[in-house]
Amino acid sequence: MVRWSLMGEYLSLLIIGIIFIRYYCYEGSVVFSLKKKIFLGCLLSAAASIFLNILTVLTISNPGCIPLWLGILLNSGYFVVVGGACTLFALFMFLLTLEHVYDRHCMKMACTVLLVLFSLYLLAMVVNLFNGCLFYYDAVEQYQRGPLNRIVFLLPIMQLVFLGYCYIRNRSSVGTSMVYVMWTMPPIVLLLSLFQVFYPDFLLNGTISAFVSLILFLSFQTHTGDRDSLTGIRNRNSFMTELSLRVRSRQHIQILVVSLLSFSDVNLQHGHTLGDAVLYETARYLDQMFPQGHAFRTGNVTFAIMLPWLDDETAHQHLQQVRDRFRSPWVLGEVSCHLHCCIADLCYDGGDATAMEVVEQLEYTLEQAKEERGIVRFDETIRLQMRRKQEIIDIIRRSIQERRFRVWYQPIYCCHDDIFCSAEALLRLNDYEGKPIPPDVFIPLAEETGMIGELTWIVLEEICRLLSSGQVPGLKTVSLNLSMQQLLDPGLADRIQRYLTEYQLSPDCLKVEITERFLLHDALYAKRQLASLAAIGIQIYMDDFGTGYSNLSSVLDYPFAFIKLDRSLVIHVPEDHRAELMLRTLLTLFHSLGKRVVVEGVESKALADYLKHCGSDMIQGFYYAAPMAKEELIAFFSQKNHPENRKMDA
Ligand code: C2E
Ligand code: MG
Ligand code: MG
Repeated sequence: MVRWSLMGEYLSLLIIGIIFIRYYCYEGSVVFSLKKKIFLGCLLSAAASIFLNILTVLTISNPGCIPLWLGILLNSGYFVVVGGACTLFALFMFLLTLEHVYDRHCMKMACTVLLVLFSLYLLAMVVNLFNGCLFYYDAVEQYQRGPLNRIVFLLPIMQLVFLGYCYIRNRSSVGTSMVYVMWTMPPIVLLLSLFQVFYPDFLLNGTISAFVSLILFLSFQTHTGDRDSLTGIRNRNSFMTELSLRVRSRQHIQILVVSLLSFSDVNLQHGHTLGDAVLYETARYLDQMFPQGHAFRTGNVTFAIMLPWLDDETAHQHLQQVRDRFRSPWVLGEVSCHLHCCIADLCYDGGDATAMEVVEQLEYTLEQAKEERGIVRFDETIRLQMRRKQEIIDIIRRSIQERRFRVWYQPIYCCHDDIFCSAEALLRLNDYEGKPIPPDVFIPLAEETGMIGELTWIVLEEICRLLSSGQVPGLKTVSLNLSMQQLLDPGLADRIQRYLTEYQLSPDCLKVEITERFLLHDALYAKRQLASLAAIGIQIYMDDFGTGYSNLSSVLDYPFAFIKLDRSLVIHVPEDHRAELMLRTLLTLFHSLGKRVVVEGVESKALADYLKHCGSDMIQGFYYAAPMAKEELIAFFSQKNHPENRKMDA
């Protein structure tokens, strides 16, 4: 009589039980996806096949304990369940292999092949009932292996071969976890199967399925790190992995990035718990919105949806569907809230690009969408804008090394002394074809890339050189524009002081200009920094007062000696009575607070005369002079401040 060892089967049952508990009980909160359902099927069918195996072995070892028909039924059932388990494992591995392939044709073909193989296998079972080719019971009701018993191994081997073929065909889009499975699972299965063939008394069927389950479980483990803990959808890591695989295999994809605007209002209004619930709801909705699309939480309030691109029209419909959803409120219990969002839409057409380049394009498009608080689609215009931006960044970088930046000066007229006494230093940069790049374009880019610091020191050095040369008659002070990054630099005051000492200049000949927008960033620190500048005797201008960022409390809060009124405040003066009234009120207010007022952007004689008449302290604008190079400045001051000319002007 055959004596089979069941030790391996008991152990395998235990391993599968542990995987089941670990995966489905401990991580129950994670989304119960199709993949997870199939893996559950794998575990259950593996457990069922081991259980049936143990049962049949026990009945075979104890002949006569059950009727013959039940023995045949149990054995046939065992064979069917083993075949089913193999098919489910294979299906699961096909799913993992083709996870990042939108072309459903491959998956459909895999399913068909698996179904055909399983049907043939079932047919063999039926035939076995008539001719005992797989197993039979002899005259004394003893279990005997049939001549084709080993054919059972053919099913998983054929499935493995087909899986290998599919893996090789789609290898560029196979995720790392499946690569790991493919390098570990087939050799182990092959070794155990060979062992089983040579030592048929050791039952290893269960051991094989336990090993396969373990390998798949371990590969799954890496997936749980790809989930966002709050919403359960895929996270940024997962987005990057999926994007890399799809771009590498040149699949056509559409990516919609949805960024929620002013989400802090939802938190403020309804509390953080509800805020979290809204994010959860939004994430789950976006994840299930398109049958072939997945959503990812790529930032705190930013989600990306990746889906196959079919044609422009469908892509446009997808975009509209997302936009329309955000037009209606999100209802959570009794709370209903409107979420405002901006959307970046990008279609990748399988062209020459790396995943990093696609991400850069997405980020740029999202930046534009945020600025417009609306929808921006990545297209040729955006591509050119991006290229130009990169070109300018390169020009800035090279121009710093090659010292190509020029500092120009715009004269400032002092009303009380009736003389040009000051100037504002303004940076100038031309591209390599000689076309000027406006400071409004290159300064923000220099700030964004952290190069503004170097630019500031270039300007400061030029200012110091100019002032110490004494070549400009009447020029008492020059002002330097500072950016936020300098305000955040703890060594700012010391460095400025070092320049002044080096050029033997007194601190009161340098003024610094700060736009209030920078103060909002870190008000307390900014105040401390400005106080340390004021402490060494440098006077500070509040620049661009009236451009939307300024408010009166900042005038009181910070040590500003001068307020620079922006051109937008005076553009309609003196014709518009209300603008005129506002200007006069501001002048009176600032004067009574002990501040002096500079008006910039003055373009007409009428306005300049009016400003002198109502007590403005200084005037800057094209009416007097546009920004000019150092040589012209020397000539300008020499001519305008010459006593003869002043008499004539008066
Ligand atoms: P800002 O500091 O407000 O400089 C004044 C701007 O107004 C200058 O533009 C000047 O040319 C322009 N302007 C002067 N008078 C008139 C006028 O009568 N009419 C009109 N329409 N415009 C006038 P610019 O040189 O293009 O500079 C733009 C901005 O770039 C500056 O605004 C400043 O914020 C920034 N910037 C320029 N140079 C530097 C620098 O060295 N460092 C930093 N951080 N920013 C700089
Ligand atoms: Mg300025
Ligand atoms: Mg200004």
